[in-house]
Amino acid sequence: MLVAAALLLSSCGEAPEVLSPNAQVGIVATLREDLELERHASDGGGTAVLELGPASVDAGGRGTWTFVYRAGPLGIADGGWLFFQVSPFWNWSTPQVTNPEAPGFTTVATTAAGVELEPETLDRQLLGIYCTGRALEAGEEIRLTYGAGDGPARVDRFAEQRSPFWFAVDGDGDGIRGLLPEPLTVDIVGGPPVRLILTLPSVVRPGEAVSLRAGVTDAMGNQAAMPDTTVTLRWIQQTESTQSPPAGLPGSLSLTAGSTGAELRLAAPESGAFVVEASNDEGLVGWSNPMVVSERLDKILWGDIHGHSNFSDGTGTPEQYLRYARDVAALDFVALTDHDHWGIQPLSQTPALWEEIRRQTAAFHTAGRFVTLLGYEWTSWLHGHRHVLYFDDDGPVLSSIDPRYETPAQLWAALRPYGALTFAHHSAGDPVATNWEYAPDPELEPVTEVVSIHGSSEAADSPGQVRGAIAGNFVRDVLERGYRLGFIGSGDGHDGHPGLSSLANPNGGLAALLTEDLSRQGIRRALKQRRTYATNGVRMVLAVTLDGSAMGSTVAPASAPRLVVDVTGSAPLERLDLIRVGSPVESFDLPEQPGALFERTLATTASGDVIYVRVLQRDGGVAWSSPFFVDASIR
Ligand SMILES: [Zn+2]
Ligand SMILES: [Zn+2]
Repeated sequence: MLVAAALLLSSCGEAPEVLSPNAQVGIVATLREDLELERHASDGGGTAVLELGPASVDAGGRGTWTFVYRAGPLGIADGGWLFFQVSPFWNWSTPQVTNPEAPGFTTVATTAAGVELEPETLDRQLLGIYCTGRALEAGEEIRLTYGAGDGPARVDRFAEQRSPFWFAVDGDGDGIRGLLPEPLTVDIVGGPPVRLILTLPSVVRPGEAVSLRAGVTDAMGNQAAMPDTTVTLRWIQQTESTQSPPAGLPGSLSLTAGSTGAELRLAAPESGAFVVEASNDEGLVGWSNPMVVSERLDKILWGDIHGHSNFSDGTGTPEQYLRYARDVAALDFVALTDHDHWGIQPLSQTPALWEEIRRQTAAFHTAGRFVTLLGYEWTSWLHGHRHVLYFDDDGPVLSSIDPRYETPAQLWAALRPYGALTFAHHSAGDPVATNWEYAPDPELEPVTEVVSIHGSSEAADSPGQVRGAIAGNFVRDVLERGYRLGFIGSGDGHDGHPGLSSLANPNGGLAALLTEDLSRQGIRRALKQRRTYATNGVRMVLAVTLDGSAMGSTVAPASAPRLVVDVTGSAPLERLDLIRVGSPVESFDLPEQPGALFERTLATTASGDVIYVRVLQRDGGVAWSSPFFVDASIR
């Protein structure tokens, strides 16, 4: 710890006043030390090839692979190491040399006479092979079989193209290793289709032509191969309609093998709220999100703007991530936000990775249809994580371990010219909480991610609270300090299911924007105006006004303001919590049905009041409105 503290002091010139309450100073010191290490010319030398093994395996399946490592010109010294690393994400067998009957059993051999190999498991998914007897000379080989004998290796339970096997070499045996530049890979593919994902727009006008989108996943939520089938469609009425039964829905939808999704145009009914059910005779079934027909409610765009690929610590390629967001989750907008310096190959040190993220983000972007945002995660273990979004095709990766961008203030100053926005997340607890001593920059950080797979950071009384929550560090606590933050959710998914991270996790996260402008600047504007709400993954329709002002607004004090909440859930509702920051939460039972209209005259508001609502469904779905901020200077 002393060494770490000294590093910090020397790196930024002055002692940081305060860190996050659960800052992990040691991690930062280790990452910085690693950057400074002198690597011997033989480290990372040689080549590896995949000699035998399947090119693709079903997610959660098993396999056996044989690799041949050939020493580079400088070889591996007597006392040097070869390392074999399989992906730490998710559930790959750890390579082991002790039990031939257990998964991940690995054999290691060489034909180089006089070279002795001593393999041992060093860490999760990491095998070290100590070379002794004599040096392994240039061109000499080591053959390694992973999943040998009766112990085939278990693979990732999530689908992933080019799942990597890494080799690394410590050629001189000084304890410092270098990675071979290109990993060997295998494709992990989704299992049989069991779930139909149907998506409708959440708010539509009477009679409007709209699209029903359909994708298929396996039991784990991975994109599955589309079957050749026809599904029967039917409306399920959520609330009363003047039409009975409503027209506009074709009776069936054809799914075509080889396609990644299906789309059907239909005419919205004249009024009411609806879900579409689709099913076939083979048991494939799915229900859409609720669609509300309304002349007056704001339209809603849905996004997931925080998640990871195998370019840092997630599953799947950037291309796969964006394709899933578009074709399976049918999101309106998405961002892939890989870590700046967290993964086998750090993004901030590997320009080719950032170039590929930029290229894919630009290639998938189609304004008016599917908006992609370029981003990354400033993964500060000192001040809390924030993801950074750009609204253009380019922007820099400013790393949190670079002393120039070590504090939130330094990050915001450097990002200001780019029109970027930042988002604090898992801010109340694990894996690292936000250091709220840095007040969110009002220009760059208008909203905060209150919920993701990590749970909710909203308040101590929130459902699905984030692990390791720290009293006083919740979002509600900092609203009380006067910070003006709107709310969004996003997945922070690491399993390749952007927009649907709740399929494989107890919690998920989605961002709802009250805008019709499906462009990068339209999304940026809605975020800056805090015309947003958060959900833990459900597409609940939540409209909240205070004396007619939209959620996220700054409003003048009023003597008897009228709060109106119009909600349509994706499941029967349970409760509405009315929150006036600094006062006890008021809870109201809602009727056990998907829709409710809640109206209430509030007590007189004064400057500094912050008011929002939280709506709970009986199935665990939750939505949080952005707050209203009462300010006497508004008139
Ligand atoms: Zn994070
Ligand atoms: Zn993240």
